[in-house]
Parts: sequence; structure tokens; C-alpha cells
Amino acid sequence: MLTHEKVNLFRLTEEAMIAFVQSLGAPAYRARQIMHWLYRKGAETIDVMTDLPRAFRSRLAENCVVALPEAVELRQSADGTRKFLFRLTDGVTIESVLIRDGSRLTACLSSQAGCGIGCPFCATALGGLERNLRTEEIVGQLVAMQRLTGERVTNVVMMGMGEPLANYRSVLGAIRLLNHPKACGIGQRHITVSTSGVVPGIRRLAMEGLQIGLAVSLHAPNDALRNQLVPLNRRYPIAPLLAACREYFAATGRRVTLEYVLIDGLNDTPELAEELGVLLRDMNCLVNLLPLNPVPGTGFRRPEPERIADFAAIVRARGVRVTLRREMGTDIDAACGQLRRVRRLQGVS
Ligand code: SAH
Ligand code: SF4
Repeated sequence: MLTHEKVNLFRLTEEAMIAFVQSLGAPAYRARQIMHWLYRKGAETIDVMTDLPRAFRSRLAENCVVALPEAVELRQSADGTRKFLFRLTDGVTIESVLIRDGSRLTACLSSQAGCGIGCPFCATALGGLERNLRTEEIVGQLVAMQRLTGERVTNVVMMGMGEPLANYRSVLGAIRLLNHPKACGIGQRHITVSTSGVVPGIRRLAMEGLQIGLAVSLHAPNDALRNQLVPLNRRYPIAPLLAACREYFAATGRRVTLEYVLIDGLNDTPELAEELGVLLRDMNCLVNLLPLNPVPGTGFRRPEPERIADFAAIVRARGVRVTLRREMGTDIDAACGQLRRVRRLQGVS
């Protein structure tokens, strides 16, 4: 970090906050007070933290800032789903989504601006990777949405823009803050990370001692096809990927969800359904099938509903657990694949 760069308080875990206030000569309990202001009282500046001594406040203000992503657009769907476009300090924009489902309010967060993996059916892939998000920019999406709506998020899915496990450190830091009772206070079992299959990241995540959910974007039952749909497969093919999923389950006790986006004429044939069923039949996992959300210009289409139902039936016949949910309204952004995926995940997590 550059010496003149001020610390954004939304990046500090409780331990880091304690170390930070102590480095400024203040006692550890000041960290708790600051966190209370940030996460419970909605402080927008250091100035309003009136139970901190004035001298300490000005020391804080010299060294740090309270900054959240700036919302530049909000779209609301007929079914209540809200999509936010945030601008970050360097002008980069990212998307986040809030999905209401009964008492559950799920936030779908971005981990990177853009994405470098290059899945040909994905809108985020089109512009490539702009940059990784910082911990405070990930946590900030949730805090900002809570403040803007006055509602409390109950679940988090890391399924917005980007590949979370390609930005491991910041994502992990964000997960710790999302989970921490003095920060966002979201239960680990209510947090899910979705990955295109960064095998070393999955194995590392398995060892963190966390109880968070893992979703893996499989999309094909063999390497030849998956190489096309998820180019990262050339580096981490299906066999080591599924081995890492097994490790994740063994280490955490959490069953991995395998995402499978159905694309018309490409990965939706009965033969591939059979291949998928055979591939996964002795694995303790859950397959989440969903129709492609077509991105204009890519040429990919979604299959007919009957074809999707047939695909599901063939995979199920091999004893694999499959979820397939009816489509919900996506009038706010027909090109955003993430949105409906989250809805499906909500139904199974
Ligand atoms: N990069 C991570 C997480 C973000 S993408 C990943 O790939 O898992 C979240 C999910 O949305 C992935 O399962 C991805 O395959 C899916 N997705 C991307 N574009 C989509 C589209 N056009 N229609 C449906 N799902 C899409
Ligand atoms: Fe990146 Fe996920 Fe989109 Fe693939 S699907 S390009 S990994 S965001």
C-alpha cells in the first residue's frame, strides 16, 4: 500500500481494526466502537463517531476514510429484484443484486470488475478483466445496498461479476467481514462462493475452517466440451476439479452444487445428460440446472423447457440430485445470467 493512501475502514477485520487503533495509540475497545458505527449505525464519516475522543477522531481522519461504492443506477424488477450499478473510486463500475424470497434477502456480489476467464456465453466475459476488487469494495456492495434500502441482507452469493477464487485474498477478507458478528453478521452457511473451477483455490478454501457453500460452474460432462464453454478447463480439467469438490465436501461437510447452464444444441442433448449422470452418480453433490440467459451477440440460445425437463430426468435416473426451477421474471436485465442462478440456489441452500 502506498504510504499516502488512507485506509478504508471497511477493509479491516476486528483483529486488524484492533491492531490499527492500537497503532494510533488508542485502546483496543475503540475498534469495537468504530465497527458499531460502521455496521450498525450507518456512519458515513468519522466525524459522527461522537463517543470517540475528538483528538482520536482527528488522528483517524488523517489516516483513514469511510468510503462505500457509489450507486449510479438502480433497476427494479416486477418481482422485486433490485439491481445496482456501483461506481468505484477509480471510475470502474460493477453490478450487485438484491433478491427477495419470503423472509430471505440475498445479495449477489461481484468479486472482480469484469472477468478474465472468458466463458463465451457470459456477459461479464465480454470486456475481459478490468481489475480485482478490494475487500472493502466487496463488503461495501452489501453495506451500501443495506443502507440504500434500509433492509437487512440474510444471504450472500458471490455470483456477480468476476471469478472469486482468482481474487482469493480480497474475497476471503470480505467473507470474514460478511460473517463477523460485529460486522455484517451473516452466517457462514448463508454465504456461497461460485467458481468456474480454480482448483488450487477450492482446495485452499476447503482448508480455511469455514462452513460456507461452494458452487462450481461445470456446464459440461467432458473435457472436450468444457474446454469450449469454460476455457479454464484447459488448465484444470474435470477430473482434478471433481476431486477438489470431493475434498471440499470431506473437509467442510458441505455438499458442493454443480451449476449447469443449458445451451441449445450445445450441452443439452440426452447423450450428454447420460454422460453427466454417469460422471456424478457416486458423488455426493447437487446439480443445479438452469436455462441460458441469452447474451445478445453471442449467438447462444436457451433450450425449450421440455428439453430441459428431459435432461433433468435423465440425470436423475442415475441417482443424482437435480434441481430445476421455473424461471422468474428478469425484466430488469435479460442479459444477466447471475440473477436467475441465484434464485435457484436460494431454493436449495
Ligand atoms: N465466475 C464465477 C462466478 C460468477 S458467474 C463462475 O463462473 O462460477 C456466476 C454464474 O453465472 C456461473 O455459473 C456462470 O456460468 C453463470 N452464467 C454466466 N453467464 C450466464 C448466462 N448468460 N446465462 C446463465 N448463466 C450464466
Ligand atoms: Fe467469468 Fe464466471 Fe462469466 Fe465465466 S461465467 S466469464 S468465470 S464471470
